[in-house]
Amino acid sequence: MNLMHDPNCIFCKIIAGDIPSSKVYEDEDMLVFKDIHPSAPVHLLMVPKRHIPSMTQVTAEDAPLLGRMMAKAPELAQANGCNPYPDGGFRLMVNTGEEGGQEVHHLHIHILGGARPWRKG
Ligand code: 5GP
Ligand code: ZN
Repeated sequence: MNLMHDPNCIFCKIIAGDIPSSKVYEDEDMLVFKDIHPSAPVHLLMVPKRHIPSMTQVTAEDAPLLGRMMAKAPELAQANGCNPYPDGGFRLMVNTGEEGGQEVHHLHIHILGGARPWRKG
C-alpha cells in the first residue's frame, strides 16, 4: 500500500519539513535535496513527495511522475555543479531492496557528479 506520508520515513519527514535538509528544487510532485553524506562532489537525492517505498512498488500510474523526475535531472545536475557533457556528466542511480543497496525505503534517484575520484563507483 502506498501511503501519502509514512510517519516513520525519514524522507517523508524531510518532505514535511520536520527534519531539515538542503533543498535545491521543489514542485508539487517532487523534492530534491543534497545527500547528507555525499559520495561525489555533487550528490543530490530526488524524491517523489508521495511515499513510494521503492521501484518495486512503481506502477504504470507512476510513469508520468518518474518521467518528469528523469527529465528534470539533467537541469538539476548542471545547476548544482556537474560539469558539461560529454567530458563531465552525471550518474543517476536507484538502489532497490537489500541486495540493491537501498537504505532508505522511500523511492529516490541519486544524482552523482563532479570531478573524480568519487568515494563510491
Ligand atoms: P540509499 O542507500 O537508500 O540508496 O540512499 C540513501 C541516501 O540517503 C544515502 O546516500 C544517505 O547518505 C542519505 N541520507 C540518509 N539520511 C539522510 C538525511 O537525513 N538527510 C539527507 N539529506 N540525506 C540522508
Ligand atoms: Zn517516505
